[in-house]
Amino acid sequence: MIIRKRPKPLVLQKYEAIAPRLRRNFPRLQEIQYESAKYLKGYKGELKVDYYLSLLADKHTILQDVCLPIGGQSVQIDNLILSPQAIYLIEVKNYSGKIIFDTVLNQFIRDDGKIQTGFNHPITQVEIQQIKLQNWLQERGLPSIPIYHFIAISDPATILEVVGDKEAIAKVVVRGESTPMKLMNHEKSLSSNTPVQHQKIGYTILRECREFDIDIMTKHSIKGSDLLPGVQCPACGWLGMERTHSNWQCNKCHHKSPTAHKKTLEDYLLLVNPWITNSECMRFLNFKSKNIATRLMKNAGLKYDEKHRRWYKK
Ligand SMILES: [Zn+2]
Repeated sequence: MIIRKRPKPLVLQKYEAIAPRLRRNFPRLQEIQYESAKYLKGYKGELKVDYYLSLLADKHTILQDVCLPIGGQSVQIDNLILSPQAIYLIEVKNYSGKIIFDTVLNQFIRDDGKIQTGFNHPITQVEIQQIKLQNWLQERGLPSIPIYHFIAISDPATILEVVGDKEAIAKVVVRGESTPMKLMNHEKSLSSNTPVQHQKIGYTILRECREFDIDIMTKHSIKGSDLLPGVQCPACGWLGMERTHSNWQCNKCHHKSPTAHKKTLEDYLLLVNPWITNSECMRFLNFKSKNIATRLMKNAGLKYDEKHRRWYKK
C-alpha cells in the first residue's frame, strides 16, 4: 500500500511563486531560475518512477518523499519501500545526456554534449542516507531489518557509462522501469529471513515525516521588499490585476477572474511569512479597503487570529 503520496515539493512551489515576483534585472534571477528548473526536473523524474514503483504496492508498504528529522539535520529519501524481509531506499535521478560513474576515482559526471559537470556521487549520498535511517530505526527500538538501496534513472534516454567496476554499478543503478523487477529478484534471495511487520514500521516512519523545506529567500538573499506586489493574472501571468466589482481584471490581456487573489495570498504565505495582516494584504494585492481585505482573506479560507491581529492558513 502507498501510505505516503508524493506532494508537489514545497521548495519547488516556492521557486515557482518567486520568479514572477522579481524584477527582470534582479541580480540573482538566473541562479533562481536554474534552481527552479532543477527542482522541476527532479520532481518530474520522481513522478515517472512512482508510476513503476506503484506496481509493488500490493505486497509492500511504500512511502514517497520521506523527510525525517534527525538531531538538527534531516534525512531525505525519494522512495522507501518496505517488504517483510527488507527496507529499500530508491533514489531517483533525472539527467539529460550521458552520465558517467567512475569507480576508480569515485566520481560522478554528467555530460550534456557541451560540458561535463561533476556532481555529488549519488551512491555515496544514498549510502549516507542508509546509515542515517539505520540509526533512526535503532533509536526507536524498531525490529532490526536489512536496508538496501538503488538509484533509479528516470529518463530512458539517459546514456549510462561506467569507468571501472561495471558490475558494482549495475548492482545498484537501475532504469526506472526495471526497478520493480530488480527489487523483486533481490527479495527472492532474502526469502529465508524471518518476516517482520513492515506496515507497522511504515506507519512509525510516516508519523514523523515532515515536508522538506528551505528558506529560499535567505538562501538567495532576497528581501521582502524585493518581491513585486500585485495580483497575478492566471491567464497571462502579468502582475497587477485591478479590483473591479467583485472581480480582478487584467489590463494586459483583459482576462477577468473572481478568485485570482487566492494564488497571490498563497504566494505571500509561502514566501514572506506564514501569516498576513490586513494592511499587508492591501499593499500586496494593491487596493485600499479594509473591508474588502477581510472579505477576500475569509474567501481564501484564511483564519483570523484575534490575539496577533493577523490571518493564517487553516
Ligand atoms: Zn492577463
